[in-house]
Amino acid sequence: SMASPALLMRVVASAYSVAEKAATIVRNVMSAGDLGIVEKTGANDLQTKADRLVQMSICASLARKFPKVTIIGEEELSTNEVTEELIEDGHCEEILKKTCPAQYTGIKEEELVIWVDPLDGTKEYTEGLLDHVTVLIGIAYEGKAIAGVINQPYYNYEAGAGAALGRTIWGVLGIGAFGFQLTEAPAGKHIIVTTRSHSSALVNDCISALNPDSVIRVGGAGNKIIQLVEGKASAYVFASPGCKKWDTCAPEAILHAVGGKITDIHGNSFQYNKEVKHMNSAGVLATLRNYDYYASRIPNTVKQSLVP
Ligand code: AMP
Ligand code: MG
Ligand code: MG
Repeated sequence: SMASPALLMRVVASAYSVAEKAATIVRNVMSAGDLGIVEKTGANDLQTKADRLVQMSICASLARKFPKVTIIGEEELSTNEVTEELIEDGHCEEILKKTCPAQYTGIKEEELVIWVDPLDGTKEYTEGLLDHVTVLIGIAYEGKAIAGVINQPYYNYEAGAGAALGRTIWGVLGIGAFGFQLTEAPAGKHIIVTTRSHSSALVNDCISALNPDSVIRVGGAGNKIIQLVEGKASAYVFASPGCKKWDTCAPEAILHAVGGKITDIHGNSFQYNKEVKHMNSAGVLATLRNYDYYASRIPNTVKQSLVP
């Protein structure tokens, strides 16, 4: 008989369905109209009812199936009581049919760390910039982001009622990434994508020093990685603390699965073991191609301002 699929593939297949359930919750909270906004560290650091419910849904659903996996979610929640209607127990069959890369077939539950951003781009969600929003489930092994799921609940929302709303992107190192059309950015153009709601003098000085042809300001780390892999932008540049491990884990796995690169502003790779500091204190630099072009042009003054 067929051997049962490797743990990693079962986790990714489940995370796919869990992220689709999450997207439904994100849309339902918005259409119900009561966002239940709470300020965390300030007015630019928000939590809504959707962030809370989705985190409960994702963490409880994955923990039930994979009880020994470490799951780290962005939100601090006052209750761990999860109603049964928040639990998703499905999985994506298509993912289970893929062959697990040999170096990952022996992974055990206790060796995986799952980083969950239940709703990335919350500020934009509260402002109605709905296609900036993503749900991020990143999977790490030996400190490295090796697989990820990005759901974009409002993909296509401006295309009107006839278009299918939402999409799920997934990837595994050594297999590739799926659910979108990999597209190169325009050759010879330097298009930078960066924050719209967490700018600073340093963020803007760094971008100016790169002398870009244009700058796209959008919310969400997940959304910005999508801009890179769909050829809308050539580099994601964020010379600031603020972005956390749950923001970068799933995006990193997907970007690396298609040959891109993401580091802090110094060129250090991110670590995702469960003991790691959550804050990406030295910012983010990511590209699909031509990483060295951007890395070599980050000013030393910017680097000196950002301690890893
Ligand atoms: P942005 O590009 O501004 O959407 O940021 C990407 C991710 O990092 C989002 O999850 C933000 O909430 C988070 N982030 C970035 N800067 C900050 C900050 N100064 N305070 C809180 N969260 C931040
Ligand atoms: Mg986030
Ligand atoms: Mg979030």
